[in-house]
Amino acid sequence: MATEIYDALIVGGGPAGAACAYWLAESGRRVLIVEKKRFPRDKTCGDGLTPRAVRQLNDMGLADRLSDHLRYDGLRAIAHGVTLEMPWPDHPDFPSYGYVVRRHDLDDMVAANAVKAGATLWSASEARTPVLEHGIVRGANVYRKDDGGDTEVRARFVVVADGANSRFGRELGTARNRSYPLGMAIRGYFKSPYHDEPWIESHLDIRDREGNHLPGYGWIFPVGDGTINVGCGLLSTFKGWKDINTTKLMDAFSATAPARWRISPETATCAPTGGRLPTGGSVMPHVGPTWLAVGDAAGSVNPFNGEGISVAYETGRIAAQSIELALAHDDGLALQTYEQQLQDIYGLYFKTARLFVQAIGNPAVMRELTRVGMQSRPLMEWVLRIMANLLRPDELGPAEAAYKMVSQLVRVVPG
Ligand SMILES: Cc1cc2nc3c(=O)[nH]c(=O)nc-3n(C[C@H](O)[C@H](O)[C@H](O)COP(=O)(O)OP(=O)(O)OC[C@H]3O[C@@H](n4cnc5c(N)ncnc54)[C@H](O)[C@@H]3O)c2cc1C
Repeated sequence: MATEIYDALIVGGGPAGAACAYWLAESGRRVLIVEKKRFPRDKTCGDGLTPRAVRQLNDMGLADRLSDHLRYDGLRAIAHGVTLEMPWPDHPDFPSYGYVVRRHDLDDMVAANAVKAGATLWSASEARTPVLEHGIVRGANVYRKDDGGDTEVRARFVVVADGANSRFGRELGTARNRSYPLGMAIRGYFKSPYHDEPWIESHLDIRDREGNHLPGYGWIFPVGDGTINVGCGLLSTFKGWKDINTTKLMDAFSATAPARWRISPETATCAPTGGRLPTGGSVMPHVGPTWLAVGDAAGSVNPFNGEGISVAYETGRIAAQSIELALAHDDGLALQTYEQQLQDIYGLYFKTARLFVQAIGNPAVMRELTRVGMQSRPLMEWVLRIMANLLRPDELGPAEAAYKMVSQLVRVVPG
């Protein structure tokens, strides 16, 4: 059965797809989101929203809704016996606070907001194959669980927002560049008396029970509902990453994390689950003649810190602007402005981040950098601003600054 034609069909209703739908609907465009799950649905995540993500949510009119959740002031970094509490910096464009919101609630809220703006959402509806005309993508065949049948949806433009595995994107020919870093992470929830602390915590030198260093980092994010989100992750730039079992890494971190959090099998509220984080714009191409890829489907996660929600909102919004241009001028070529925008906004930053994570791929280098860094609060505050992409415009261009930092730190590492 064929349906009417939309201006844009959005495959996936997570942060990237919902943001893209919101901005197009706000411009009065006819948008359909197809989402294979039914909201509210869970998504494996640390649930941490940085100031960049909060800015996007505020811009979508969700500031009041966010205030029902746990607001935090900054990052507590712990390594080599040193603890540094670093508030988010003042910035002209971003708030100086973040939130922790379970994805179960967050994604439901953002998708509902897109619907309120005028988008149509089909839940339990999976885009399975593209509709092609002379090799050009014109929509998707969508399996609707409730009807138990396929519907052909046609649209002027298709937005691929189907997340890290991006099966629909692969149908269109996207592929991950394997020379770019890939993140792997795992998380679980635990009941904790400190569930409403105003800091997110990051452990930069995690060890096993015998005290041996492990590649990767750990986090403890207070959720404010009686639980904390605990997880750990590592990048494919770490030597021997293929042999690392993230469940074992999680067990080791849970067993050695500060006792006050009360992280134990008895306080766990669910079994841990994991996922992949494609970073640095690693999934390409980002744009075709009639389609664009956004969020994890474009490999947009920040390689510095594993943050993907803010970039998903941002790339969704940038994609909406390019589609708007293409529709307004009735010129599909305008879609190509998307790639240019991505390059202008993230190109140098992502490149620098890739360099940095290559450098810390050697556990000895990582150890030495964190040891040296943790001795200096100003240095670590600068690192925090760079890693969360929050340098102020009056500071050096972000990528140059980051590059200088990397080369300065790498220089002090013995050998
Ligand atoms: C363990 C872990 C911890 C993380 N912690 C953080 C964190 O604390 N902060 C942060 O900023 N980022 C974090 N991330 C990254 C973050 O989760 C992602 O970057 C973010 O979810 C990307 O949003 P997205 O919209 O691109 O994709 P997703 O959130 O994956 O959304 C894609 C949506 O598409 C739907 N879908 C897929 N295929 C189809 C199809 N064929 N048809 C219809 N629908 C489809 C899916 O059901 C899903 O709802 C973490 C990731 C992991 C794995």
